[in-house]
Amino acid sequence: MPVYEFRCEACGPFDAHHAMAQVPRSQDCPACGADARRVFSAVGLSRANSPRARAIDDAARTADAPDVVRSLPRQSGSPGTAPSVTRDPRHAKLPRP
Ligand SMILES: [Zn+2]
Repeated sequence: MPVYEFRCEACGPFDAHHAMAQVPRSQDCPACGADARRVFSAVGLSRANSPRARAIDDAARTADAPDVVRSLPRQSGSPGTAPSVTRDPRHAKLPRP
């Protein structure tokens, strides 16, 4: 059953499960028993872990706290670094600079 949101004037919002064909326009508040009206809110589809949701969250996060680059990426052949050596025999046939 879907979850519907209701709002009590005194206690605030709460959720309740109802069948789609039997959703009341108002319901008794579970805390104080007063009449609480149904509130129309965004559909609660589960997109929390989708790649699109993560990309949106990452973009929003970097707006406030951008990733800071503290050093240059390591490059092969630059001074002070050991050259990368491959042990794959197929790489011996590749052209050399
Ligand atoms: Zn209430």
